Amino acid sequence: MAFEGLTDRLQKALSGLRRKGKVTDADIRETMREIRLALLEADVNFKVVKDFVRNVREKASGAKVLEGLNPAQQIVSIVNDELTAMMGESAVALNKSPKIPTVIMMVGLQGAGKTTTAGKLALKLKNEQNARPLMIAADVYRPAAIEQLKTLGEQIDVPVFDMGTDVNPREIVKAGMEKAAELKSDYVFIDAAGRLQIDEELMQELADVKDIAHPDEIMLVVDAMTGQNAVETAEGFNDRLDITGVVLTKLDGDTRGGAALSIRAVTGKPIKFVGQGEKMTDLDIFYPDRMASRILGMGDLLTLIEKAQKDYDEKQANETMEKMKSNTFDFNDFIDQMDQLQNMGPLEDIMKMIPGMANNPALKNAKIDPKDMAHIRAIVMSMTPEERENPDVLNPSRKRRLAAGAGRPVVEVNRMVKQFNQMKKMMSGVMNGNMAGMEQMMNA
Ligand code: GDP
Repeated sequence: MAFEGLTDRLQKALSGLRRKGKVTDADIRETMREIRLALLEADVNFKVVKDFVRNVREKASGAKVLEGLNPAQQIVSIVNDELTAMMGESAVALNKSPKIPTVIMMVGLQGAGKTTTAGKLALKLKNEQNARPLMIAADVYRPAAIEQLKTLGEQIDVPVFDMGTDVNPREIVKAGMEKAAELKSDYVFIDAAGRLQIDEELMQELADVKDIAHPDEIMLVVDAMTGQNAVETAEGFNDRLDITGVVLTKLDGDTRGGAALSIRAVTGKPIKFVGQGEKMTDLDIFYPDRMASRILGMGDLLTLIEKAQKDYDEKQANETMEKMKSNTFDFNDFIDQMDQLQNMGPLEDIMKMIPGMANNPALKNAKIDPKDMAHIRAIVMSMTPEERENPDVLNPSRKRRLAAGAGRPVVEVNRMVKQFNQMKKMMSGVMNGNMAGMEQMMNA
């Protein structure tokens, strides 16, 4: 998960302040020194760090903050606002042309994830707007790039235009645009060439393609794992092509996160999407404010709720809520919930989006083992329908039968049933407005 180190250090710096009743100028200086180091270590561009620290200091050292009711909290809020501002305030949508097709030219270095992202974006538009995209295979240099795009196209059912590798990309793009007109495509993605490094020949080719296709969006794809290099790449492409947006890929990896924090400030161009995995659906809109909260370990509830909504069947969710409320949640519902959760992605990542959980020591090295989930499922599957609907009938002899059926020790069955009962009680409490139940469970 990206940003872990940064989150840790920022939280440490800020919790030092929180412990103090009264905050002095010297305390703020010390905190800012720690924040500065944390950002530099996370690979944030030094000029960006300098501006950030200056802005926070200016706002924080005002007498108002120090004399206010809760100075530490006010400083956290200033840091949060400045982090958000550094990444661009609010989400910026994909450009759209008033007439069809909207042309999106994908550029970036080899391996950044350009081809994959073209497919992800095309699928997103298809799913969310019923769009009819066409993808043009114009990367004739990277071995297998064209085949890769064709395979992706088949997978997501989007047509791909190609002319093999022996034709000049300028010709391919010209012919591809004609094809788009013929197909009445509403979006065209040009998978332009990439290189291992920026060079003049590449830039000239991309500039020519830009002149031919008049893209509405020149989307630079950069790999977040490359840290400072990502920022330099962005500057290089922007100087020459005047890019319109950035997709930051591989944020699911173990990146220190500096690129996400610097690119907007250095290039002035918005990060529009982030890639968070290899699957075709692993592309999310970039929300600077949510990212800032996530970095500060304050969780990202909105994204969590949206994820849940996307994967959730609303009717079923309402039914479940009702059951939780009336305390009639049973093992059938439990298994449904488990399936839904697993569809949302790795559990430990999801848990970290809950406010206050990102740095919860209990989760620090938590790997929620899919094997454990499988064991729980095996136990539930060994229950009779009556037992699933009415867990109260589970007496010791029934539990022994379940253990034998699932091939798990009896203690595990006991533990699982006990946890289920606790969870049920807690949920019914929370649903009926009693948050104390939630805290009890967190501290259990
Ligand atoms: P291109 O040379 O820029 O077209 O790069 P590709 O699209 O071929 O991507 C290079 C590699 O990065 C592939 O193995 C992709 O699956 C992988 N990749 C792309 N985006 C992401 C992402 O957001 N997360 C992860 N983990 N891998 C990604």
